[in-house]
Amino acid sequence: MEDDFYCLVMFPYPSGDGLHVGHAYNYAVIDSFCRWRKHKGQNVFQPFGFDSFGLPAENYAKKHGLEPREVTYKNIDKFRGQMEHMNTNFEERLITSDESYQKWTKWLFTKLKEAGLAYKKIAPVNYCHSCETVLANEQVKEEKCERCGSEVEMKELNQWFFKITDYKDRLIKNLDWIDYPEHTKKQQRHWLEKLNDWCVSRQRKWGCPIPVEGEEDTLDTFVDSSFYFLRYLTDSEGEFLPKEDYKQVDLYVGGNEHACMHLIYARFINMFLYDQGYVTEEEPFKKLIHQGMITKDGAKMSKSTGNVVNPDDYDSDELRMYLMFLGHYFDGGDWDDSKIKGIRRALGKWRRWIDGAVDGAVDGAVDTEKLENDIDGFVESFKFNKVISTMSEFYNKNKDKKINKETADKFEQMIACFAPGFKK
Ligand SMILES: [Zn+2]
Repeated sequence: MEDDFYCLVMFPYPSGDGLHVGHAYNYAVIDSFCRWRKHKGQNVFQPFGFDSFGLPAENYAKKHGLEPREVTYKNIDKFRGQMEHMNTNFEERLITSDESYQKWTKWLFTKLKEAGLAYKKIAPVNYCHSCETVLANEQVKEEKCERCGSEVEMKELNQWFFKITDYKDRLIKNLDWIDYPEHTKKQQRHWLEKLNDWCVSRQRKWGCPIPVEGEEDTLDTFVDSSFYFLRYLTDSEGEFLPKEDYKQVDLYVGGNEHACMHLIYARFINMFLYDQGYVTEEEPFKKLIHQGMITKDGAKMSKSTGNVVNPDDYDSDELRMYLMFLGHYFDGGDWDDSKIKGIRRALGKWRRWIDGAVDGAVDGAVDTEKLENDIDGFVESFKFNKVISTMSEFYNKNKDKKINKETADKFEQMIACFAPGFKK
């Protein structure tokens, strides 16, 4: 594991809507990054899982008279089918609502409690008198109950907190050297200027129970996602993370919307586990990047606007290459259905050229080494758009030459990193 490359993508919440094109941009394009690393001879670890507890499944289940578990695991099956369609090498390792994972969420809570970092105090919650229930912040819209529209009142309740403020100075100090985008560091610094202890009690059903006698509350789902990258590393059921299985994440890729909460909680929990001797790096992620956003007609995709692109409607190679071609990976781009045809045509032309390769020596050598080096530089700097244009230029420059099978094979292998279905 020591020499392997650990590539982590932010695991999805399995919502009823399924995977969207933003997920495809994260997972399919980073899968190509990993395929390229493998092509260069590196071992790459690319685990996957599901962040499966949460309020939407609970609300949906209640509305339709179902169990949240039933709804969630059905959604997970849908996601699995979509991941298969995208043709990635991600390996599913865990589901946070499985008993086998909850065991470690409870273990973490108990460790924090033993260390004096989990404590109870009175804090205000949102309460709806008409529904006679506590509401999550997400269930309160403009100070009114989302369900019945009544005024929401603040009520004092005894709740659990994690003492993240004890780690505040270290969380700020390490921002001086960790390899995160500058704007993300800026957002974290700002968020850590007004840090309070982390309230982890949730008055919900579909979450990990707080492992204390008499507790009916569940844990904030951000607790589940604060250590999943460590549990990916091991198959051990008896130990949290055997020392020989530990590996720091080399590259973490996900949306910038997680710049604060998730990423700060994960850093805090990792630091705590470092202090406890479970991990040997204080920071969980060696390098962090954010993919850009894919828009449609210049606007953010949303169901209400009706401009959502469904990845299932496209050929997975064409979808992946088109997403790469849109722009620099950090910038994203605007989706245009008419342009995906250009990708299809290019793949067709490359296929025919490769199929026309002959045995033995040919006149006028084709330089695949330069192509390989150019692509390498662009992949490593996440300029996937340049990868596609470089392959296209290479083809245009050499298309009138006959190539031999060896050259054809090299070109085909490179293309297959970015269009996995291309290889015969
Ligand atoms: Zn209400």
